[in-house]
Amino acid sequence: MDQLRKKAYGKINLALDVIGRRDDGYHLVKMIMQTVELHDELSFEKTTDGSVSMTTNDSTLPVNDDNLCIKAAKLLKDEFHLTEGVNIHLEKNIPVAAGMAGGSTDAAAVLKAVNEMFELGLSDEDLMERGLSLGADIPYCIMGGTALSEGIGEELTKISPMPKVALLIAKPPVNVSTGKVYTTLDSLESYEHPDIDGMVRSIEEKNIKEICNTMGNVLADVTMPMVKEVEQLRDTMLSFGADGAMMTGSGPTVFGIFTDEVALDKCYLDLKEKNVCERLYKTFVL
Ligand code: ATP
Repeated sequence: MDQLRKKAYGKINLALDVIGRRDDGYHLVKMIMQTVELHDELSFEKTTDGSVSMTTNDSTLPVNDDNLCIKAAKLLKDEFHLTEGVNIHLEKNIPVAAGMAGGSTDAAAVLKAVNEMFELGLSDEDLMERGLSLGADIPYCIMGGTALSEGIGEELTKISPMPKVALLIAKPPVNVSTGKVYTTLDSLESYEHPDIDGMVRSIEEKNIKEICNTMGNVLADVTMPMVKEVEQLRDTMLSFGADGAMMTGSGPTVFGIFTDEVALDKCYLDLKEKNVCERLYKTFVL
């Protein structure tokens, strides 16, 4: 196989809690992860000279060893002493540094693609183990679907699939440093923890109302006071009839769950007209 194409899906957090910190500084989390249809597209071509390289439509991204795509390809090339290499083209659609695991999902797609193209025979578990050395969210991106993520993100438990609802995803024109969000969280004496077990139950019962009532993200309490647009986007979505709306990851992206797709369309048009989003997508839960 000399050529291959793959979709790399983004994620949202239906709930996100931080329950501690390891001695090495990594935070211990409890998160409910959900794959969404919004995706990047990657195409792969073998190179006979052994080179690993990439191009992308997003000029803000590095195309050298700093890109997780290159890191992932080189990790397998080095381990398996591959004499051939790979050229990757990344068509970026998932907003960057926005709490949707965009880089991690690309890395997951590269690990899968190199495994297939070079017939390495690695299982998903094997790829997840290697992915973890590049990023805490990569094992989840290999697995996909609806999952409880614990530890630093590597302890994954699949839960029954989330009902297939429509989503509006909006990223304000602001960037948030994940590091700063976590440092600020560490400085808080206490904060309210979302009910992760309640969320698992609500998803298993396929109760969208309860899922929306139980949504919570401890990082939103930190990001919201820093980025007023997060609260504004959430409130706009709720005022247009979203069943629930919340920030994903460390933000600043906000997603709205809409069982009423007419309401979703109206909200989409309103936000488009007001021109308050850097990125705005209609998508759905996968
Ligand atoms: P998470 O939800 O896991 O916190 P994120 O969505 O907040 O991730 P990413 O989009 O993965 O963040 O980007 C984080 C950083 O990683 C960016 O500063 C970017 O330069 C770098 N990066 C490296 N490779 C990629 C890639 N393939 N796609 C996006 N960002 C990448």
